[in-house]
Amino acid sequence: MLATSYDSFIVIVSVLVAMLASFTALDMAGRVVHSTGKVALVWLFGGGFSMGIGIWAMHFIGMLSMSMEMVMSYNAGLTAFSAAIAVCASIFALWLVCSSADLPLSRLVGGALILGSGVVAMHYTGMAALMFSPGIVWKWGWVGLSVVIALAASGAALWLAFNLREGQTSRITLLRIGASVVMGCAIAGMHYTGMMAAEFPVHSHPVGQGVNSNWLAILVTVVTISILGITLLVSMLDARMQARTSILASSLAEANRELAQLALHDNLTRLPNRILLEDRLEQAINKANREQTQFALMFMDLDRFKAVNDAFGHHIGDSLLVGVTERMSQQMNGYHTLARLGGDEFVLLVEIDDPNDAAAIADKLVKAVGRSFDISRYELVVSLSLGIAVYPGDGMDERELMFNADAAMYHTKNNGRNGYTFFQPSMNIQAQSQLQLNNDLWQALDNDELRLFYQPKYCAPCGPILGFEALLRWEHPKRGLLSPDKFLPMAEKTGMIVNIGNWVIHEACRQLRQWHLQGHPDWSVAVNLSALQFEQSNLVETVVDALEKHQIPAELLTLEVTETTAMRDPDESVRILTELTQLGVKASIDDFGTGYSSLLYLKRLPASELKIDRAFVNELQHQKEDATIVSAIVALAQSLQLKVVAEGVETAEQQAFLTRLGCNTLQGYLLGKPVPPDRVPDLANFVLAETDEALADVSLSPEVDPLLTPQVAAV
Ligand code: C2E
Ligand code: CA
Ligand code: CA
Repeated sequence: MLATSYDSFIVIVSVLVAMLASFTALDMAGRVVHSTGKVALVWLFGGGFSMGIGIWAMHFIGMLSMSMEMVMSYNAGLTAFSAAIAVCASIFALWLVCSSADLPLSRLVGGALILGSGVVAMHYTGMAALMFSPGIVWKWGWVGLSVVIALAASGAALWLAFNLREGQTSRITLLRIGASVVMGCAIAGMHYTGMMAAEFPVHSHPVGQGVNSNWLAILVTVVTISILGITLLVSMLDARMQARTSILASSLAEANRELAQLALHDNLTRLPNRILLEDRLEQAINKANREQTQFALMFMDLDRFKAVNDAFGHHIGDSLLVGVTERMSQQMNGYHTLARLGGDEFVLLVEIDDPNDAAAIADKLVKAVGRSFDISRYELVVSLSLGIAVYPGDGMDERELMFNADAAMYHTKNNGRNGYTFFQPSMNIQAQSQLQLNNDLWQALDNDELRLFYQPKYCAPCGPILGFEALLRWEHPKRGLLSPDKFLPMAEKTGMIVNIGNWVIHEACRQLRQWHLQGHPDWSVAVNLSALQFEQSNLVETVVDALEKHQIPAELLTLEVTETTAMRDPDESVRILTELTQLGVKASIDDFGTGYSSLLYLKRLPASELKIDRAFVNELQHQKEDATIVSAIVALAQSLQLKVVAEGVETAEQQAFLTRLGCNTLQGYLLGKPVPPDRVPDLANFVLAETDEALADVSLSPEVDPLLTPQVAAV
């Protein structure tokens, strides 16, 4: 046999090439898995090609490392064929590793058999390309061992490639390098075992003209390393680009999520907004139809929220809304959507088994919101008015359900607020009629349908008459005489109140002038100003006009502004009222005790009287606290040098009590109801005679008296 020896440098190069090829293989597996479509195909074939060339080059360089006393030459065709086998086997291996999500044992074994056979075929085809005679003598034991190594190495390679195919972290890269070393050694092991199987007879001699090996070693090494290097470089660039793309994609997804959140949610409370609610409502209807279930739609509105907002500012108002949202959310469990439509309007959509469930939920919500809120050192109290529509039954579609729940909510508002009402068909008619009334109101001024009634204000306890409060009425052609609560809220909403209010000022002055001429020159008139009217820049002008036109001394006109309006923007109110009172006109703070006054501003407001809200007067007999409140208000007014007017005086007890507390002026049904102007002269004559008599009978009730004494002393 010919003595063969190996060039250890080339052997090392061959092992390195095997490792590099293995690393490329693992990297390619990652690439293919992370790509789709055509790109994945390019990686599969491109990667498989360079891998195959790498493995083949290892074998070829390994053969070149062998030196014998014979110059080797190779059959170019068979050599190329052996390379082709390596490439095909590699592409197959890559495909196997990347084509499915798992690698069961059967698939692994099958794959290892095919890949191992490929490697064996490549190796021995490469050996067959050696051109010499009489040919190799095989040691079959070694051949068998090389086949076993090829199969085992293939199995291991497939398993590693499969398990390291996902991920781009540096840990994975390290693992891949480790695996490449193992795989490289296995491939080299197979090759050199295969070489051990070959013996070259002593008298061997080259046959034919083949490719000479001297320069081939360098060429193959350089080309192979270049191919593998370029492949890895491209792969790295692609990985970076993919990473960047995925970062971009995820930030895009994040931005999309945020946009959706913004578009579908309310900014302040983070609750779903109207758009999202409508969507959920549609789904709820579909589900209820499909599964024959029920759901309730609840329309909710906070009572007195506007007053809080006006008095404390939007900042506190916003915090209150957030607080209310939290309270309501805490009450909810099960599938529901709580949405905010804007302002203080909320809607709850909730699945129920029975309308009683809806009542229970509504009750919980009303109670939860009714407890006071502690917001930046204020204790705020609001309540909830709620209207319920149940599907199916109270509406066919989203629009009708919303409309009906809203109508039910208004019903709650009109019935004292702070509660809930189930929708009933009659409510719809009410809503329609409200709409009609709104349309009619536009005509009312032009058609001369507005009237002023006058309610006398008496010097306590029973006269003389000091003047009158002008109270608006609407003589509706079809519905008869309407009181202001039927149409003023609407007029305030639409802004019509400004024109109406200006008319009231003029009309009251005109009427007062008549009474002056009829022999009551010291009577005054009080006119109510709405919040909107109060903020009009031409209010002063209107007042001056009216006074001049009807020749009324300014001090005989009183403008009544509610406490809530005055405290809405206190600085501005001080400015406006100062301007008005500089004309000589008087200002009165109406409905005092219902709003939130800041004492500091109250002191600065150039008002001349406080009107205690009639709710306190009304409750005087029943509730001890109200007596305390009234006496406190009187004390306050006196210390601010304001006159105190008590309105809503209905009983002689109230009359006497309020007088003793120190109220200067009384107004109420006991002394005189609001009447049309032509009845005012009768009223004036009648009351003077009556009340003297009435007062003679007045004695205070025993419950009130003991309570009263200390407070009067305090006052
Ligand atoms: P207000 O300014 O507090 O007017 C007093 C209300 O109490 C009047 O109701 C009056 O009829 C009623 N009242 C007077 N004495 C008694 C009594 O002894 N017992 C009871 N239960 N009620 C009594 P009215 O006329 O229905 O007016 C309601 C509200 O409408 C007024 O409350 C005022 O805020 C507003 N309003 C009336 N006229 C005008 C107006 O010309 N302009 C503006 N902006 N608001 C007006
Ligand atoms: Ca008033
Ligand atoms: Ca009042």
